Amino acid sequence: MKQKIVFATNNPHKLEEVSQILGDKIEILSLKDIHCDVDIPETADTLEGNALLKAEYIHKSYGLDVFADDTGFEIEALNNEPGIYSARYAGDGKSAQANMLKVLEKLEGIDNRKAQFRTVIALFMDGKTHLFEGIVKGTVIKEKRGEAGFGYDPIFVPEGYGKTFAELGNDVKNEISHRAIAIKKLNSFLMDN
Ligand code: IMP
Repeated sequence: MKQKIVFATNNPHKLEEVSQILGDKIEILSLKDIHCDVDIPETADTLEGNALLKAEYIHKSYGLDVFADDTGFEIEALNNEPGIYSARYAGDGKSAQANMLKVLEKLEGIDNRKAQFRTVIALFMDGKTHLFEGIVKGTVIKEKRGEAGFGYDPIFVPEGYGKTFAELGNDVKNEISHRAIAIKKLNSFLMDN
């Protein structure tokens, strides 16, 4: 029988990305699959802390093996902001357009455009906790380019590429993204354990 693990999300893009990498050997259950409709609080001040909070909550409430992720967009010249506030940088409305505008305004006149996306996955399995990290380094350009993806994709050019994540499209992005790197590390761990 396939091993079952909860992925503490209902985001269909993330579920698809994860299932593509883990799907053959592991059955992934979403929050909906386990009938959890709680908005799990993300009150920690690090990505690691928030991923752990989510995984811990599900493990305690349902007694299941589980992993959870948290991602931040970290801009060097802004002291790694927006970081844990990436989803709501310009306010609670969670508008990607407003968030990007805020970043571009804050970087106006600043030459250092270095940034990275960082994903942390926390896994609770067999009573133990494990963390996996994925990072993609790159630069923030001066105006938006491209239509694909989501969040800050139109203003981020990954190192070694001349196009933004939004111009590269999901096929390329999902091969090289921060999330893909973290998921592949999780996959290797699960295959060995
Ligand atoms: P989450 O922790 O995966 O929900 O990500 C938090 C926020 O980071 C999102 O709301 C986006 O603003 C941003 N973000 C996460 N992953 C990406 C990505 O792959 N591209 C662009 N923005 C992202």
